[in-house]
Amino acid sequence: QAGNAAWVARRQASVARAIGFAHPLFASRAENAHLWDVEGRRYIDFIAGIAVCNTGHNHPRIVQAVAAQLGRFCHTSFQVVGYDSYVELAERLCAAAPGPGAKKAFFMSTGAEAVENAVKVARYATGRSAVVAFEGAFHGRTLLGMALTGKVAPYKAGFGPMLPDVFHVPYPSVAHGISMDDALYALQRLFKFQVDPQRVAALIVEPVQGEGGYIPAPEGFLAALRRVCDAHGILLIADEIQTGIGRTGRLFAVEHAGVAPDLICLAKGLGGGTPISGVVGRADVIDALPPGALGSTYAGSPLATAAALAVLDVIEQEGLLARATAIGRRMRSALQQLAERHRSISDVRGIGAMTGLELSVGGDIHQPATDLAAAVKTAAADRGLLVLTCGNSNNIIRLMPALTMEDATVDEGMDILADALRAA
Ligand code: PLP
Repeated sequence: QAGNAAWVARRQASVARAIGFAHPLFASRAENAHLWDVEGRRYIDFIAGIAVCNTGHNHPRIVQAVAAQLGRFCHTSFQVVGYDSYVELAERLCAAAPGPGAKKAFFMSTGAEAVENAVKVARYATGRSAVVAFEGAFHGRTLLGMALTGKVAPYKAGFGPMLPDVFHVPYPSVAHGISMDDALYALQRLFKFQVDPQRVAALIVEPVQGEGGYIPAPEGFLAALRRVCDAHGILLIADEIQTGIGRTGRLFAVEHAGVAPDLICLAKGLGGGTPISGVVGRADVIDALPPGALGSTYAGSPLATAAALAVLDVIEQEGLLARATAIGRRMRSALQQLAERHRSISDVRGIGAMTGLELSVGGDIHQPATDLAAAVKTAAADRGLLVLTCGNSNNIIRLMPALTMEDATVDEGMDILADALRAA
């Protein structure tokens, strides 16, 4: 059995280097909140496949659901011959989505496709073309996804020109001195000087900025955006690709704010590791589009929709929304204690099982400690803990474990992280 180094060398020889690679490790197996590499080393997994395996790796219910579906058929394309799991999943998400009125849903395979298609729906339904997104946002790597994304390198630089009619305004971040009022004022100015709001089809927002630095929207912000959208006939799209399906302690993160977006994008946690994304929202908006306008050969595949139904069952039956809240609280209270001893920790924040630990030079939040964050990530992996970084300067350690992780494993992971911080 070849080791990590041998696989890394083979990877480098044959795989595009543009594909990111946070840890020079290769997986051999994974179970619940742990992952083993090809050398047999065990890691506590605070990454969960980038906030995908909310129900843990290899949950027996989900494995069984996929196996049962494989035993029936693997693929028909829902555009050709329908199947039960697609419809059942749509029914369940429509019933769960916040807000009054009839809902509809449709599925795709990746998060970026969910975003692309939500914007297509918004453009068609409103007959308008412009889209407003936030600085620091991440919405995927397709042509539209990168245009909506805020961070320039490595996502946008060199790929221009960007698609037109996309505008960015600051996302509020109290820790970084950008208040909710600053952000709303910037939006007002955008409408006054750059784009007539009557031309704007949609405003797309992450309820917690994910790749941008694990920054929860301040209280009242999403409600304020809802009001702005209503005032101008703009559709509000919540990109819940990272925050959705229980990650923040609610099925949809917008529920914390009591706000009903017109469209919600889902992916990641939805499929329990199988590739599926979706859009759920207002039936009148989604059904403005004619038959054939949406779709993709594999979208909402039988395997992925069967897995997603099992994911929703597991979340309900194992009380994982409450677990997300409890895990996040446990992590943040440990990190707050750690922050008293480490000057470089400039902020600890998050909601549910989405926790960010910001590292800054001398604790000055305006001086990102990018190298330190990279060193902590490596030192943690050397000690058996997998974490990722995020943020414009990659100086935020983000923790997004499986919601099935036990307290003892959370604590073990936090001890390793503390040790890694000391060593880095
Ligand atoms: N939107 C958000 C908020 C995300 O976090 C991501 C992925 O990290 C995406 C969109 C893109 O999803 P995908 O990588 O599945 O295309």
